[in-house]
Amino acid sequence: MIPAAVALALAHFGAPLAYRLAAGRWLARPWGLERGPRRPTVTVIVPTYNEAKFVEAKLDDIAKQSYPKELMEVIVVDSASSDGTAQIARRWAAEHPQVKLLVVEEPERRGKAHALNAALKAARGEVVVITDADSTWAAEDTLERALSWFADPRVGAVTCLKKPAGKGAAGVEEGYRRFYNAIRVAESKVWATPIFHGELAAFRRDLLEANGGFPTDLGADDSHTATLIALKGYRAIAPDDVWCIEAVPRKGYHKWRVRRAQHLIQHFARAIKRVREAPGPFRKVLLAEAWLHLANPWLLAAAALLLALEAARGSPLAAALLALGFLPLACKPYRTWVAMQLYLMAAAIRNLKTKEIAWEKEAK
Ligand code: GDP
Ligand code: MN
Repeated sequence: MIPAAVALALAHFGAPLAYRLAAGRWLARPWGLERGPRRPTVTVIVPTYNEAKFVEAKLDDIAKQSYPKELMEVIVVDSASSDGTAQIARRWAAEHPQVKLLVVEEPERRGKAHALNAALKAARGEVVVITDADSTWAAEDTLERALSWFADPRVGAVTCLKKPAGKGAAGVEEGYRRFYNAIRVAESKVWATPIFHGELAAFRRDLLEANGGFPTDLGADDSHTATLIALKGYRAIAPDDVWCIEAVPRKGYHKWRVRRAQHLIQHFARAIKRVREAPGPFRKVLLAEAWLHLANPWLLAAAALLLALEAARGSPLAAALLALGFLPLACKPYRTWVAMQLYLMAAAIRNLKTKEIAWEKEAK
């Protein structure tokens, strides 16, 4: 059993390392895309559920963007918030007549994607940008940079890279972000990244409509929509000059990570069924990411379990190997990695019980 455990552990750690090495090579590639001066019209959609604390600052942030106001409309879509979010948004609209803002109110909460679809019905922009109320764009030209990629007709979707805000739990976020940002860009250069971010997720509206809007029966509506667009032969990219700042919860950090992992698992479990339709370069990305999210964490658990069983039976070698696996937990990158595996496994189990389509808000 010990050789099997070692093989499982090597496979578990080897897969992401091999992928990161490949990504390192892809990073050196050119984008193979042309950015241009042609500016599309844009609808910025802010979905809100009890965002009274953030909605005003979010709208100010959008209003500060350098993108020409005459090419931009904003929609706040609120799903029956109980904290007055919609009223605040309406008041902001009255105070800022230079910004075209529409407040759409749903009579009941049926999840973020459902709300986005309600907003989509009113959207007129060539490009639709989704942005979470509790997120911030890193610079005044973030929107302009993101939209400049749509000058190339091959680009169907654009997302941002993320910097965590604040300290504490955010410290863990930071190391993990650097690793993942590099992978997001590398995947984008190859073809598309199957992981999009709610802080800024931009899509061509005609492609969204061809998809029938956002999927309402899974959590990662942005990532899944981007992946469907990539499957159709468009590029879905995270450029290296479009940045967002994410609010990391002050409380309920683990719960938050598990929910997000649940959403990614739902997304990959569905996307992987269509891997055959993927354009060649995207196929390997989708296969690798689906493996890393769906299967790979369990290899680590299996290895640990086998070693623990052998150690319990009195094998000093198994006990030593197990200790070897625990010791590096003192190092942050390793700890972050192992934590992610635990979140993914907890998420897979929790998905059997609830999909978390309408989730409880963590305090940020
Ligand atoms: P997180 O970023 O994964 O922690 O998710 P959040 O709880 O911040 O939600 C992302 C965005 O979607 C926020 O702007 C929320 O207010 C919004 N949101 C979440 N659920 C709903 C919903 O049911 N309806 C609407 N309209 N917005 C929602
Ligand atoms: Mn959020």
